[in-house]
Amino acid sequence: MSVSPDRVLLASIHDVSPRFESEVDRLIDKLRRRVGDRLAMLVVPNHWGDAPIIPGSPFASRLRDWANAGLEMFLHGYYHRDHANHKRTADRLRARVMTASEGEFLGLSRADASQRIADGRKLIEDVIGRRVDGFVAPAWLYGEGAMDALRDAGMPIAEDHWRVWSPASGRRLATGPVITWASRTRGRLASSLVVAPLVRRLPIPALRVGVHPPDSRHPVLMRSIDTTLRAAVRNRRPARYSDLIAA
Ligand SMILES: [Zn+2]
Repeated sequence: MSVSPDRVLLASIHDVSPRFESEVDRLIDKLRRRVGDRLAMLVVPNHWGDAPIIPGSPFASRLRDWANAGLEMFLHGYYHRDHANHKRTADRLRARVMTASEGEFLGLSRADASQRIADGRKLIEDVIGRRVDGFVAPAWLYGEGAMDALRDAGMPIAEDHWRVWSPASGRRLATGPVITWASRTRGRLASSLVVAPLVRRLPIPALRVGVHPPDSRHPVLMRSIDTTLRAAVRNRRPARYSDLIAA
C-alpha cells in the first residue's frame, strides 16, 4: 500500500500534566517512533486542582521544548474534572456514566467556560511562548456554554468523538470517530482492543488516534496502540491538526 496524500493520521496524547509525567514520557516515546513530531499534546493546566503547571518549573520547560520541536499544543480543559452542578439530569447522567465525572466543560456556563479557557490559554501560551493550536474538552464533552465560549475566544480548532471543527470559522474540518483505548475496567479494555482494528480500516480521510496516560500501564494496550499506528502509517501521512485548516 502506498501513502495517499489526502489520507492523514492525527495522533494525540491526552491529559498532559505533571501528574502523569512518566506515563506521558512512555507514550511520547512510543508514538514518536511512528509519527515523528506530528503529534498533538492535550495539556491540562491544573489537573483535579492539585497538579498545577508552574511557569519556570522543569515540567513547564519540557512543554516548551515539545512545542519548539513542532508538537501541537492544545488546551484540554482547566481542571479536567467536572465540578459543575448540571441542571439537566440527562447531562448529569451522561457526564457520570460516560466519563466518571471527567466532563469538566459539559455543565459550565458561557461565562465560566470563557474564564477557564482564557486562564488556561494564557498559562500555556506564556509557558510555550506561542499560541495554543486549539482546545479539546475533557472526555470530548461540550455543553452549550463551552461551544459559545470557544466561538467567542476564536479558538482555531476543537474536536469531539465524531468530528474536528474550527470554532473560529465555523468550518467542519474532519468527520469520523477517534480511536481510543480504555483501561478503567477489564470489559472496556477488552472492547477497545476489538474496536481499534475495525476503526483503523475505515476509509475516512482523517484517522484520529488518542491515547491516555493509563494506557501506558497496560502492555496489551501499548501493543495495540503501536499496531494501530504502524498499520495507519502504511497508507496515511502523519499530519498536524493545523494542516486541516490549510487544506
Ligand atoms: Zn482528558
